[in-house]
Amino acid sequence: MKIHRAGKIKMLYRKVNTTTWGQVQNHFGGEYRWERHKKQAVDEELPMREGMHGKLERGRDYTPLYKFLLSKVGQRWDDVYKEAVSRLDTPEPIFYMVKRHRKDWTSYVRYGESSYFSGLCIDDDGLLQKINPEFTAEDVPVHCRCCTHTFNGEVVPVT
Ligand SMILES: [Zn+2]
Repeated sequence: MKIHRAGKIKMLYRKVNTTTWGQVQNHFGGEYRWERHKKQAVDEELPMREGMHGKLERGRDYTPLYKFLLSKVGQRWDDVYKEAVSRLDTPEPIFYMVKRHRKDWTSYVRYGESSYFSGLCIDDDGLLQKINPEFTAEDVPVHCRCCTHTFNGEVVPVT
């Protein structure tokens, strides 16, 4: 019997079932109001919205991809890219975090409402690197106190 190897590949994104989320929220009145407040806050920040926010809403959460890329910092980009692509539906989200052109370099990228990750680049030796390794969770621009902000998956301390 032939074993399907494809079935063993762990994909680097989660499918987000927004319908189920809505139902869950409706069971908890307080939570639902909380969500509405958060949505409102996002609308007020329209200029800060990035294209990837729409991706989240379309039902793909690429957080596992961004954690994967972080874990590969210092390794050969060609290998990292090959593995990432084999575990994605489209390579596009990789380049939200990995900035190929120097003009696009930023210390961090914002994903969704309050998740931040290090901006990554490919150095002259072809290795994946953080654009600004000095940038830490404390440097994340926290713009409200009602949401928990994270940097590279870690909770940003509220001061
Ligand atoms: Zn908030």
